[in-house]
Amino acid sequence: MTKPTLIVGGGPAGLSAAHALGSLGQPTVLVEKEDRLGGAPILSGYAKLVPSGEWAKDAIGGMVGRVEALPQVERRLGTTVKSFAGDPGGFTASLSDGTDLEVASAILCTGFTHFDPVNKPEWGFGLFEDVVTTTQVEQMISSGQGVRCPSDGRAPKRVAILLCVGSRDRQIGREWCSKVCCTVSCNLAMEIREELSDCHVYIYYMDIRTYGLYEDLYYWRSQEEFKVKYIKARIAEVTSDGEKLIVKGEDTLVKRPITIPFDMVVHAIGMDPNVDNMLLASIFDVELQKHGHIARISPYEQMAATSRPGVYVAGAATGPETIDDSIAQGQAAAMAALAEGRSFSAAAE
Ligand SMILES: Cc1cc2nc3c(=O)[nH]c(=O)nc-3n(C[C@H](O)[C@H](O)[C@H](O)COP(=O)(O)OP(=O)(O)OC[C@H]3O[C@@H](n4cnc5c(N)ncnc54)[C@H](O)[C@@H]3O)c2cc1C
Ligand code: SF4
Repeated sequence: MTKPTLIVGGGPAGLSAAHALGSLGQPTVLVEKEDRLGGAPILSGYAKLVPSGEWAKDAIGGMVGRVEALPQVERRLGTTVKSFAGDPGGFTASLSDGTDLEVASAILCTGFTHFDPVNKPEWGFGLFEDVVTTTQVEQMISSGQGVRCPSDGRAPKRVAILLCVGSRDRQIGREWCSKVCCTVSCNLAMEIREELSDCHVYIYYMDIRTYGLYEDLYYWRSQEEFKVKYIKARIAEVTSDGEKLIVKGEDTLVKRPITIPFDMVVHAIGMDPNVDNMLLASIFDVELQKHGHIARISPYEQMAATSRPGVYVAGAATGPETIDDSIAQGQAAAMAALAEGRSFSAAAE
């Protein structure tokens, strides 16, 4: 009998891998450490997703529903893997609920951790209540509460969105670009303008990386249709004059200092490696790449392969990824695990 495939992490990548395997009749065990499936878009309450414009709760909630409908996929919520031993086709995984599972292979879909902006104290997060993150604004919108200043509940008249918070910043050891935050911020700026038509929204940027088709849909549309303003700047600090938040920096196009007051400042936080990655690397005996993401070993031969045969990886566990790409990688990993499982079954017959 075919042994099950173990999937660790129930975000977009893990759901896509589970759906692909379950649909093909492959027994699958999906282990998720939180008490619900959906990954960051559900756990962090994202609002409308780019590029589809669908609400995260509908789009990713739909993925959860499709996996829940598959009898081949056994779900273990609030559970982690404690140890993982053996060889491809015959691994034993011990789970935190005390169960031991015999599995043919494993797919790590353990995603990322949001950058915590308290690590960038000069930009005011944790000091001033109205300095918030993109995820907090997403939650304000998705909960139906609307965009409001946390300090007193007023609708802001001036909002600054600061890009690259916790990304592309060598001083704090984050050299990577988080890939989605430019587009997510353009989208959020349009959503704020849509809700609060008298609110001025400024985006402070180093570069705008609304790559591919996003340039037209988000960057240009936000300026031409929604009158979002862009300032190419190096930010020095975010302070307060007691009434307004003050963003100080240098306009790097005209090379002049700029000091502008705002009601709300939004940090476009990046995607850190999952804080569990060191532990996962030791449990599954897989290599991490230099920044701490799970390393892919041979992308052209098998994009999902890790350094350990029989253990695959997909999605933001490998580095900043979009949802679309995480879904595609989940399917690729499922295909690799299935092909390998079948070759072991054939050899055993
Ligand atoms: C503010 C913000 C907004 C974004 N908006 C968009 C958008 O609109 N469109 C878009 O394409 N992308 C967006 N993204 C990126 C998107 O969040 C990722 O592409 C997506 O979440 C990656 O899916 P994943 O399944 O790889 O990882 P995750 O969503 O991080 O899911 C990983 C899952 O694994 C679980 N897990 C972690 N560690 C363990 C463990 N040790 N054991 C068991 N389970 C574990 C987690 O609890 C989680 O459920 C946004 C990112 C940010 C930061
Ligand atoms: S996507 Fe944009 S905001 Fe995000 S790290 Fe890259 S350049 Fe900065």
